[in-house]
Amino acid sequence: MDNKSDEQSTAEKSIFNAIAQEDMDEFKNILAHHKGSVDLFDENGMTALQHAAYKGNKDMVQMLLDRGADVNSGKHEYNYTALHFGALSGNSDVCKLLLNAGAKPTATNSVGRTAAQMAAFVGNHHTVATINNFVPLSEISYYSIPRGQQTEPYLPPVLVDPLHKFVLGVNIHPVRLALNLQNSPALLDNADKASKVLELLSKKEMTRGSDTNEVMAFKYHYLSYILNEIFNIRDKQKPNTENKEEKKHDPIEIFSKKLLKPGKDGISLDLMDAFLKDCVREFPYRECTTFHQMVTSLTSKDPPPALSVINCTINGQRGFVDAIPYCSTCGEEKPAKKCSKCKTVQYCDRECQRLHWFVHKKACNRETAPVTTSTNTKPVIDATELTSQLQNLVAG
Ligand SMILES: [Zn+2]
Ligand SMILES: [Zn+2]
Repeated sequence: MDNKSDEQSTAEKSIFNAIAQEDMDEFKNILAHHKGSVDLFDENGMTALQHAAYKGNKDMVQMLLDRGADVNSGKHEYNYTALHFGALSGNSDVCKLLLNAGAKPTATNSVGRTAAQMAAFVGNHHTVATINNFVPLSEISYYSIPRGQQTEPYLPPVLVDPLHKFVLGVNIHPVRLALNLQNSPALLDNADKASKVLELLSKKEMTRGSDTNEVMAFKYHYLSYILNEIFNIRDKQKPNTENKEEKKHDPIEIFSKKLLKPGKDGISLDLMDAFLKDCVREFPYRECTTFHQMVTSLTSKDPPPALSVINCTINGQRGFVDAIPYCSTCGEEKPAKKCSKCKTVQYCDRECQRLHWFVHKKACNRETAPVTTSTNTKPVIDATELTSQLQNLVAG
């Protein structure tokens, strides 16, 4: 008996070591030889899953969950859950895995803080937004089953996963949302149905009594509005289907370019602003505080861009984000690429750069010609920089 428990405790110790060292081979090896529950505790009452979450190691977290690790288990002395540790790690993917596995976002630690509050406390804003934007899959799949007199459900079952992904997105820039649809053609084809389901979800959030979630209700409305707009563009394009290959008939292309088109001053995104203001205006729950706050902000003397107002509503106010670069097309944080010619604007990838070229080309060409004269003085007015700053502001 003693021997067996010795063996067990060696296995336990070594799994915590493997996680601490992020030694994947050793970790896999231990799991392969370990029979029974993987809810192993260290001397502080922390589980292996909590350790992996704290390390922000997505693969280890996934493997432990696959092996049936209890996401809400823990004997941690300060009542931290795996989600608290994931939130502290700042790895949003880890948090998503934990939430999908049933982690309770409302669980508090011994000082009464939720995982999202801990993430905010250490400045992991993306993680805060990930947790706050989380919706269980069951919320969406509810509409994939016929109810009452229905012979067909509101949502074809194949759309449950893509719509769930669409809803969980943290970057709510309309161009990013549109571009994400490129990866889910089924959702694009059924954008009208998905849009309808999102309006139903919005209504549901507004009629939960004391659990009413105005922000989530607005987010659903916002997503619904965008899907509906893209569907309408697509619908109008139908006569041209013989030109399928041509980008100019692609509804995502048309939608994105319309929103990215600068106004008369060559800088402000007037069309995007007008589109998003219409979206706010059409929110059906006008009595709620969220609606009033947005309208107050949008009708103030020097109003911020509507995208900024909407982003603050959905993702919360953020501070100290000036230093973070954004994609000039879709507002994604820390994009991987720069315009190779002028190096003043950044993009996620070629697709984002290509989409933005019709705006950027003028500024880019101007930029490259006389740039060598003086290196330490800034150009008086630099349209490229202004545009990118505006994009930052919008995206922030
Ligand atoms: Zn981008
Ligand atoms: Zn350029």
